[in-house]
Amino acid sequence: MRNLILLLGDQLDTAISSLAGADPAQDRILMVEAEEEGRYVPHHPQKIVFILSALRHFAEGLRGRGFSVDYIKLDDPANSGSLDGELARARSRLQPERILLTEPGEWRLLDRFRQRQADWPELTLLPDERFFCSADWFANWAAGRKQLRMEFFYREMRRRSGLLMTSEGQPEGGSWNFDQDNRKALPAGHPVPEQPHFPMDAITCEVAALVAARFADHYGQLEGFDYPVTHADAEALWQRFRQQALARFGDYQDAMAVDQRWLFHARIAAALNIGLLDPRRVCLDVQADWQAGLIPLNAAEGFIRQILGWREYVRGIYWLLMPEYAERNAFGNQRDLPAFYWTGKTRMRCMQQAIGQTLEHAYAHHIQRLMVTGNFALLAGIEPKQICDWYLAVYMDAFDWVELPNTLGMVMHADGGYLGSKPYCSSGQYIKRMSDYCGGCSYKVSEQTGARACPFNALYWHFVMRHREQLGSNPRMAMVYRNLQRMPEAKQQALWQWGEHLLERLDAGEML
Ligand code: SF4
Repeated sequence: MRNLILLLGDQLDTAISSLAGADPAQDRILMVEAEEEGRYVPHHPQKIVFILSALRHFAEGLRGRGFSVDYIKLDDPANSGSLDGELARARSRLQPERILLTEPGEWRLLDRFRQRQADWPELTLLPDERFFCSADWFANWAAGRKQLRMEFFYREMRRRSGLLMTSEGQPEGGSWNFDQDNRKALPAGHPVPEQPHFPMDAITCEVAALVAARFADHYGQLEGFDYPVTHADAEALWQRFRQQALARFGDYQDAMAVDQRWLFHARIAAALNIGLLDPRRVCLDVQADWQAGLIPLNAAEGFIRQILGWREYVRGIYWLLMPEYAERNAFGNQRDLPAFYWTGKTRMRCMQQAIGQTLEHAYAHHIQRLMVTGNFALLAGIEPKQICDWYLAVYMDAFDWVELPNTLGMVMHADGGYLGSKPYCSSGQYIKRMSDYCGGCSYKVSEQTGARACPFNALYWHFVMRHREQLGSNPRMAMVYRNLQRMPEAKQQALWQWGEHLLERLDAGEML
């Protein structure tokens, strides 16, 4: 046999580098359902179903193209439970001339396979070319810069890709971003698009039964699985978004509303991250819709910035700074993650909504993650590793390369500022402005201290006060510290004491 090609669960793309030039007559493909990959953090059961079902469907497609696929199921009695363990078995069974693997998207696995290369000289790691920007290009771009900022990276990527650029090399519409247009709350009663549904087929049902039996100890609901697991279904989800939601995506991308989980979001991140959709193609589609006059520029630019800007930037930061990056803890946080992150049992309605839908669907949109669950973890001083592991476990689209910088950097500001020039922190006022959560909450967003007061309020000021030394000289925090200075001493004392009280309650394992 010539080549043995190991395909991982997030490499389900026939254009991936390990499959380039693959010949069904001479090469063989290995696909593995590894128990370890479902357990190294307690992944949401729907996420495990999603990846395994997509893996099985992709294997069927490859067989249909004439490839021989060695597919190792989770419950195969001989399955060693790890990817490298199964590659070792296949290697001795098949004795290939070469083993090909596109570089895994996680440092944990890349490091493991690199170490294996010492014993397996026939193992070749190939670059993952599914991104606009390679790790090497990013490292070159970053070299010598005093400060790394997504905005400057994004402009460079716009120029390189030509997306939303004029023939004179200027950004369309005369501006690099339209953030100021993209911060609208959803008006009461505003209609939101219907979501397409993806009923489970026989393969997905079989996987779901297996996951129910083997991962019953993981948090999150298995019932109600409704994600595309094939390229065709992912395409249907994408086309539906283009037709029904994209035009309003920009306006309401930061909005939150009770029991409205999807709003105008595409919810394609999981499909993109495992290879069911191509990021270049979706950006070109969005540009084409804008050029055809179907969507406004703020929607097109807001969407493209997420893919071409943030998604590529966080991946660049990840590969630039791992593995040391994962250990960063700029604020020295030590607090344990409150139990309600795993159960949703809290009186804070915003947290109930964000965590509840996460347990139900393995999904919350970016502002729920950043300004509700993330904001709370930042204000409460949760240890970064614990909150990072939570995000990695519970979200359908969370893979280490994208989740870690987003959580450790953007949410927790624990990397010292690569993902934001200031922490994304706020009192309950931001949540009130961007959602209808506060109206039905047990707490009063207008109150700062006392049993009825919104916990975000005192925790916000406690955060601002306890990190005065680190943040006080940050120009983007100047107004916050001026407001603190203007605050009467007695009020500052009261906020500090109420913040301390809330943190003590968290430490005692009490529900807020
Ligand atoms: Fe959240 Fe506070 Fe609003 Fe309640 S009052 S929903 S805790 S922001």
